[in-house]
Amino acid sequence: MGEFRTVGVVGAGTMGNGIAHVFALNGYEVTLVDVESEYLQNAVKTIEKNLGRQVKKEIITPDAQRQTMDRIVTSTEMASLAGTDFIVEAATENQKVKFDIFRQLDEITSSEVILTTNTSSISVTEIAAETSRPERVAGMHFMNPVPVMKLVEVVSGLATNDETLQAIHQLAESLGKQPVQVQDYPGFISNRVLMPMINEAIYALMEDVAEKEAIDEIMQLGMGHPMGPIQLADFIGLDVCLSIMEVLHEGFGDDKYRPCPLLRKMVASGRLGRKTGLGFYEYE
Ligand code: NAD
Repeated sequence: MGEFRTVGVVGAGTMGNGIAHVFALNGYEVTLVDVESEYLQNAVKTIEKNLGRQVKKEIITPDAQRQTMDRIVTSTEMASLAGTDFIVEAATENQKVKFDIFRQLDEITSSEVILTTNTSSISVTEIAAETSRPERVAGMHFMNPVPVMKLVEVVSGLATNDETLQAIHQLAESLGKQPVQVQDYPGFISNRVLMPMINEAIYALMEDVAEKEAIDEIMQLGMGHPMGPIQLADFIGLDVCLSIMEVLHEGFGDDKYRPCPLLRKMVASGRLGRKTGLGFYEYE
């Protein structure tokens, strides 16, 4: 462990519960905040279940599972983050929501505290500008599922200072993650490279170049991708894919990022992928 002991995680959804999981497993005292206690209860259940999986696979001991759970407290009050050493925000991907949260965090926490966001597509520089400490605001972009994926894309806003970045890198390493440094441009690196590939695969499907299974098989067997792009789009959520393509399209003003009409049609029809039971594929 580095210089931090207590960590606040804002948002207890898919990413927030995974982030709380890895911090607590690695010895940090975590306060997990969400707007409804029901979401927090669900998050705690998910963390316990995922830790249980790690016990089964003998990655961690039953003792570590218990100690990890003991290091997590939950709250519906942002004010409960007042004394924490470090913050990761993983709330809903909505600019207004994030701006509000960062204004609150800026008031609640000591001015020395580093505030990070797990955003996939909102400008870290703009989020930082909502606070009085933009030099201590950065992106800490974890990948889903957080306990499994090694990468943390560390995003430097225009004002972020080196001390802050260094502290985030050390912190990520203390979680057993590999931090990789990028600048704040639309989609950073991960989504700027991934999403156009997914979008192109959907274009190829729309143009009937090949069946969806064939497109996925080609990328899996030929390029060594663990999941084909169509399957991956369903896994991520087609609405999320569309909104990130729109961010790239608008952010760069370049038509090479135009979202595929078939992707738009799928989202309009409510076929959002695995989470709705139906996307390009059908799920149980
Ligand atoms: P999610 O919808 O599963 O969870 C978001 C949570 O934030 C919800 O529980 C919601 O109640 C809570 N929330 C909303 N407003 C809040 C507020 N004011 N205070 C506290 N909590 C609040 O979303 P997610 O998939 O976990 O995504 C969270 C963030 O992580 C987003 O910025 C997203 O872009 C990013 N991200 C997601 C993935 C992914 O694969 N899901 C991957 C990388 C990054």
